Amino acid sequence: MSSAIKSIRGMHDVLPAEMHLWHKLEQTVRDVFAGYGFSEIRIPIVEKTELFARAIGDATDVVEKEMYTFEDRNGDLLSLRPEGTAGVVRAVLQNGLLYAAPVRLWYMGPMFRRERPQKGRTRQFHQVGAEVFGAPGPDTDAELLVMCQRIWRELGLNDLRLEVNSLGTSEERTRYRENLHRFLSTRKDELDADSLRRLDRNPLRILDSKNPDMRNLLEQAPVLSDFLGDESAGQFAGFCSLLDDLGVAYEINPMLVRGLDYYSHVVFEWITDQLGAQGTVCAGGRYDGLVEIQGGKPWPGVGFAMGQERLVELMRSQAEHEAEVPHVYLVMAGEEAVSSGLSLAERLRQETPGIRIQSNLGGGSFKSQFKRADRSGASLALVLGENEIRESQVTIKHLRETKAQEQVAFSDLEIWFRNYLAC
Ligand code: ATP
Ligand code: MG
Repeated sequence: MSSAIKSIRGMHDVLPAEMHLWHKLEQTVRDVFAGYGFSEIRIPIVEKTELFARAIGDATDVVEKEMYTFEDRNGDLLSLRPEGTAGVVRAVLQNGLLYAAPVRLWYMGPMFRRERPQKGRTRQFHQVGAEVFGAPGPDTDAELLVMCQRIWRELGLNDLRLEVNSLGTSEERTRYRENLHRFLSTRKDELDADSLRRLDRNPLRILDSKNPDMRNLLEQAPVLSDFLGDESAGQFAGFCSLLDDLGVAYEINPMLVRGLDYYSHVVFEWITDQLGAQGTVCAGGRYDGLVEIQGGKPWPGVGFAMGQERLVELMRSQAEHEAEVPHVYLVMAGEEAVSSGLSLAERLRQETPGIRIQSNLGGGSFKSQFKRADRSGASLALVLGENEIRESQVTIKHLRETKAQEQVAFSDLEIWFRNYLAC
């Protein structure tokens, strides 16, 4: 019997057991994009290698060593797409879609990069992306980020933080690159192998190093924002103040650069601490020069791409975590309260399917019980003391929201909780 053939390293099946998370993600982005006037576009998985080389940049890791490239039977050099933006720009130009600028598009599908497989990093992965062409202003950039925030909210992901930076114009970046190169060249002995390789070809990428040993050196390096002229700095300030107005929280990270060459001005990443080293779930920015590089007029562009595997992983871990957190922590003071409380909790578990109640066991003062209630993660405390027993009612306190406490009669508890869980 011959041995079974396995899938290629770094390329995985999406199994039926996790399909509901993929569907939820995909349906959510579809709905949210529609709510902002974006239309879907589907582009080929294989394109001419030159398209990516030109758009992404010869000196990037992606083009230099990560693309799956092969020669077609007629001698054409073709590549599996490593990202979506280059193909979308090609499609927009080829199909004359810019006549109705600004154009808002989104796409979804598999991408291929021959990187070292590890947690959160595979060779076939999936991205959802959005692009806007023909809109220069910070209003577009800011709205893209509000749209991302809405997607996170709809997915129930609440621990993502946003980092932003400005890469300025290509002239400003060139001047900065020279300075950075000069600085790093004097400190060559402190560079790791990856950074040494990047030093002459693409020194900006060294800022993006994932190696913690490089941090100290990089913190002393010249900072890009010092090289921005008034116009770029003003544009970035306008973008930041729009984010403030729209209630989108962010941090400015002066080290934030993007792996692909085509970015200019605003760049951003949405990051989680829950996934270890591969914590960026969405990344993007403005790429005003890209359409021209591809042979069109100098149309401004801005966009982002989300990594679906990382988002699905985050949704899974959040769902598992939520499945353990109680809805209610039962605070009981006095012997009588303990016996009434435990039997009330039993009645609620019986009558209200899905409810998770954690009883305070082992007594303790109100203060220490509330401390435990807080630590449990519960949203509500159900409080039973002497007064409550006398009146045959409980006090319900909201632990995570600033809402007034409520008094609910023992007999109305099931209805109250059924309504609560339904919201
Ligand atoms: P990283 O710094 O993690 O390598 P990148 O700069 O190469 O990311 P982009 O090209 O901007 O990433 O891609 C956008 C998003 O796509 C990333 O933030 C990530 O979520 C996802 N992504 C990129 N490469 C991979 C991969 N090899 N496996 C899984 N997801 C990926
Ligand atoms: Mg990468």
